[in-house]
Amino acid sequence: MDVRYAPPQFRVFGKTHIETLPQLQTLDPEHRLQMRAVAEVLPFRVNNYVIDHLIDWNDIPNDPVYQLTFPQPGMLDERDLRTMRDLLARSAPADHVADMAKRIRLKLNPHPAGQKDLNVPRTAEGKPVPGMQHKYRETVLFFPLAGQTCHSYCTYCFRWPQFVGMDDMKFASKEAGALVDYLREHTEVTSVLFTGGDPMVMRTELLEQYIGPLLEADLPNIASIRIGTKAPAYWPYRFTQGEDADRFLRLIERVRQSGRDMALMAHFSVKRELETDVARLAVQRLVNAGATVRCQAPLIRHVNDNAENWRDMWRMQVRLGAIPYYMFVERDTGARGYFEVPLAEAYDIFTRAYSQVTGLARTVRGPSMSCTPGKVMVDGIADVNGEKLFVLKMLQARDPAWVNRVFFARFDPRAAWMDQLRPTLGEAEFFFEAGLRRMQEAGSGQVWREPSLRVA
Ligand SMILES: *Cc1c(COP(=O)(O)O)cnc(C)c1O
Repeated sequence: MDVRYAPPQFRVFGKTHIETLPQLQTLDPEHRLQMRAVAEVLPFRVNNYVIDHLIDWNDIPNDPVYQLTFPQPGMLDERDLRTMRDLLARSAPADHVADMAKRIRLKLNPHPAGQKDLNVPRTAEGKPVPGMQHKYRETVLFFPLAGQTCHSYCTYCFRWPQFVGMDDMKFASKEAGALVDYLREHTEVTSVLFTGGDPMVMRTELLEQYIGPLLEADLPNIASIRIGTKAPAYWPYRFTQGEDADRFLRLIERVRQSGRDMALMAHFSVKRELETDVARLAVQRLVNAGATVRCQAPLIRHVNDNAENWRDMWRMQVRLGAIPYYMFVERDTGARGYFEVPLAEAYDIFTRAYSQVTGLARTVRGPSMSCTPGKVMVDGIADVNGEKLFVLKMLQARDPAWVNRVFFARFDPRAAWMDQLRPTLGEAEFFFEAGLRRMQEAGSGQVWREPSLRVA
């Protein structure tokens, strides 16, 4: 592919296109009505690359990328679906539809894992710093205002509330200045992770306005700049064609020349996303420009709940010089009932895939839950004196003293999230719970700065 050519025209489709997209007209009208009902509640946005190159339209509704991007009736509980469907069927006024959508959303746990309270950093005067989250000592998440959308939306997105106009929930920052000020004060931070949405929806010129100041400021502790993105899967032309793509590759070189790692935390859900020529070229160009590409995704029912998919994805990633990084567990928010996979099954899928790759792909860790205390990995299912239990490991933690600790929970074949697990072997609660309560009472999660929060 010649990079002198402009990328193809980017076109997006949403809920107003469900009745007009030709590919959907093979579905029966009732099914489309239910899709529209779901799309009133949860965000829906898909682009022409996904429609033309990633979905096998002969295999809908089962096609994994179709499940990944298009609203599915099963995403709402039956009663909510019927209520919303009936409103649309009788062409209820728009404000009735909007009110009902809002009521349903509030039942979907829009803010999992203490994102709104414990993760938002505060200034010395106690004022919240907008557009940032700082949960783990070494890494700050930064949400650039202009990067709070995506080339397509994933149906299972855990940040779904920010795309449906629940505006107060948008963690956006107005400028890089606040970020630099924060990092100057917080010398414990070694990594800045730009996230969203998808920061790669921004033109490179705009990205430079965020990343440039980090390079120019005197921030010797910052060792890596990361960008969380699904653009290599949803719009790989972002890296392969046109002047803006080339300019991004030069930005990678500039970060590398400052003596830092530039990492793309690439979200690949299914192997098909890595099978198109343009997606492979995108990863190759990123790697050649000096970026590290680390790959992660959640394990999702109907989308990627099979070991072969993960095995093949990890093999392809290694081939391209990318690094398998995390397999996540579907979070306890949004349409989780439709997408969740029990932990025991997740562990089984992970293990079967992991056992079929070389050590080069075993950089991947998981299945991992990003929950309130930290990232908790299901590291095994074991038998201790006749009792079956989960072996868990804290990969990341609000309190650095918790990191790398192994702990146990009673085995439960249906448990799909941390809050469904119970301690075992005579423990009354998990080791982190007292510490977490203190943080919640104090309204601060930064135990590394406030050791008084620590429980001995
Ligand atoms: C996963 C995550 C990070 C990054 O963790 P790494 O293990 O360093 O990749 C940072 N902040 C939050 C809130 C996270 O969930």
